[in-house]
Amino acid sequence: MLHNENTKSENGGEKTLHAEVLVLGSGPGGYTAAFRAADLGQQVILVERHETLGGVCLNVGCIPSKALLHTAQVINGAADMARNGIHFGPPKIDLERLRSFERSVVQKLTRGLSGLAKKRRVQVVSGTGRFLSSHSLQVKGKAGKQTISFDQCIIAAGSHSVKPPDFPWDDPRMMDASDALALADIPKRLLVVGGGIIGLEMACVYQALGSKVSVVEMTEQLIPGADRDLVRPLHQVLKGRYEQILLNTRVTKIQIQKQGLKSYFDGPNSPKPAVYDRVLVAVGRAPNGKTLTAETAGIQVDERGFIRVDQEQRTNVQHIFAIGDIVGPPMLAHKASHEGKVAAEVCAGLKSAFEAHVIPSVAYTDPEIAWVGLTEQEAKTQDIPYEKGVFPWAASGRALGLDREEGLTKLLFDPQTKRVVGMGAVGVHAGDLVAEAALAIEMGCEAFDIALTIHAHPTLSETIAQAAEVFSGTVTDLYLPRRKKT
Ligand code: NAD
Repeated sequence: MLHNENTKSENGGEKTLHAEVLVLGSGPGGYTAAFRAADLGQQVILVERHETLGGVCLNVGCIPSKALLHTAQVINGAADMARNGIHFGPPKIDLERLRSFERSVVQKLTRGLSGLAKKRRVQVVSGTGRFLSSHSLQVKGKAGKQTISFDQCIIAAGSHSVKPPDFPWDDPRMMDASDALALADIPKRLLVVGGGIIGLEMACVYQALGSKVSVVEMTEQLIPGADRDLVRPLHQVLKGRYEQILLNTRVTKIQIQKQGLKSYFDGPNSPKPAVYDRVLVAVGRAPNGKTLTAETAGIQVDERGFIRVDQEQRTNVQHIFAIGDIVGPPMLAHKASHEGKVAAEVCAGLKSAFEAHVIPSVAYTDPEIAWVGLTEQEAKTQDIPYEKGVFPWAASGRALGLDREEGLTKLLFDPQTKRVVGMGAVGVHAGDLVAEAALAIEMGCEAFDIALTIHAHPTLSETIAQAAEVFSGTVTDLYLPRRKKT
């Protein structure tokens, strides 16, 4: 079913369009796929149910949260300067101005995306898509219904916040991450359910703006996927800032009361029920695979809503691809956009596959935690041998100058080949350090490759070289009694 042009016909009041490549969903995965396919000469239609392009990441996720986290960092940074003799008064918060800054950041990017789509002649169709067959999708939007037939399709329909059904979601004081980003007000007491990345990033924002924050996490540590030694310095900092951090604890019930949301806890050290002005629930995200009538197109969707794909991002239906959160964890924008390029290239007949060895993770908390490749946790549970080099930031001139010496950088190595296989860091701007390690792993670098690369002084990036030197036994910025001979 090949059409050279984007054809449009009326079909009993229902418009019909045709795309060589139809992309469903315009998040970082979807828009990247659409733009790459268009750049490769494909005639592309991009379907999006929201008014702006960019998906959760740009509109109600990564980008607005970073605008608010920057604000939090300035507020906490200014307060911390008191220990060095610089005293600022408490911040005066104009919430409307802050919201409009947040919105302006999002608008710049979403408008930019619309402009990029126009330049590439990617047609954006507004509405919610559902498969009618393996070659057609119906889109229901403000303009009515349209049917789009396609030669190939890339599903990039993302994920949604998990909302435990027993919680009273009708109460406006209950928030998911998007609600929290809307900054309706600054609650006096905020309960954050879930000590993962979203919960802790938003906790950081609200604490800085003046809320008394409590975090409840059901496992034994915050950010359970990260190594314990990386989480410890973050936990220490947060302990001083938050009302409570409750580990091994669940919220069993939330009762609506006039004066707040009464929350009940369960766990070995669980406190008595308490009343909060708002509750943010951030207990994970679930894929949108069940919302697309994908089975009508013959696409297999598992019971959780994930769509399985091969290395070319193909689903079980040869001409239908899937990318991003909907194909499985990690649910990260940079994984989605990488997969989007692969799918678009395969659609255009190029030889392409998802072959990245590692995908970095960053929690934009204060301090940040970042890791890539093998973690010590994984190495231990999977019995993978490793050796490591750790450099404490207490010995980094740059970290001391920033008055943030709680950080550390560690590199994990394959004991046989001495190649770097993993990296983790905690500290301010740790997220900016992880790229070097990702490249080192992809390039198969050995410890000496990193240690002998001259890193600018004084930077936090030096700590990566110094961690490699610790492993190699050549470090001079620390004294290690049992140094290896080189
Ligand atoms: P998450 O899975 O990262 O964290 C959820 C946390 O909630 C976990 O620690 C879990 O143990 C805990 N939890 C689950 N049920 C609970 C319960 N009943 N009571 C108490 N704790 C409970 O999920 P998230 O933070 O919601 O993030 C969702 C996804 O979005 C993740 O895949 C994340 O990687 C991604 N994300 C990434 C970034 C980033 O890269 N900076 C930012 C935001 C979100």
